[in-house]
Amino acid sequence: MVKIDLDHVYKKYDNAKNYSVKDFNLHINPQEFIVFVGPSGCGKSTTLRMIAGLEDITKGTFKIDGKVMNDVAPKNRDIAMVFQNYALYPHMTVYDNMAFGLKLNKVSKSEIDKKIQKASEILGLKEYLKRKPAALSGGQRQRVALGRAIVRDAPIFLMDEPLSNLDAKLRVTMRAEIAKIHQQLKTTTIYVTHDQTEAMTLADRIVVLKDGQIQQVGTPMEVYNKP
Ligand code: ADP
Ligand code: ADP
Repeated sequence: MVKIDLDHVYKKYDNAKNYSVKDFNLHINPQEFIVFVGPSGCGKSTTLRMIAGLEDITKGTFKIDGKVMNDVAPKNRDIAMVFQNYALYPHMTVYDNMAFGLKLNKVSKSEIDKKIQKASEILGLKEYLKRKPAALSGGQRQRVALGRAIVRDAPIFLMDEPLSNLDAKLRVTMRAEIAKIHQQLKTTTIYVTHDQTEAMTLADRIVVLKDGQIQQVGTPMEVYNKP
């Protein structure tokens, strides 16, 4: 049960003239599925990366369950993230790709095995654990990337256009997959997409961004079916 608060968050990159994110205010409920939409360059990734701790917050506060997290290192944030270019290690098997981060964090072999069995069951990857990424389809590779995040058992799940490299048919399948994962894991989720259908089918609430600012927040009905 994890609540996220973004209070008056601003971001200015060191080399930039203007703010990339301005006065970002958002309160996310435990287990909520939030989708960020908006044109390229409106600040979606920057906001996600600040939450993950991959970018500093210039001004404002980011809290998890009421605790200010601005200066907490990424590895101590209990957040799992999936990127658009899923960057699997080509020389490692599916199993080792999923195990890698856990090994670094000194999780025991048996615990790693348990987590990977569970994730590969959820994702339909059980038969592929010994393969290398080159021997997988695009959809399977994306499943492995999701698996690598799932095994972290983090209560917060961030996804930055995870399906944009897939063809249309696969996107539909994986969209359903992501909805299922969210129901099972009950994570507080933030998902970035360009795709209106993805936003409408996945979101509890959609956040529309423009020029680094929140333009609108609402349910899919409120955002897309305005009278
Ligand atoms: P989106 O994800 O919505 O496409 P981004 O968050 O990537 O938008 O970018 C928001 C703004 O910040 C853009 O104007 C972009 O050019 C700028 N920006 C992103 N990353 C950097 C960076 N590392 N240095 C300077 N400016 C950046
Ligand atoms: P990689 O992401 O390249 O596989 P590692 O798994 O070696 O990198 O992890 C390096 C650090 O980054 C770890 O200490 C871990 O806390 C963090 N980390 C790894 N994977 C994720 C992820 N999916 N989401 C968020 N943080 C991650």
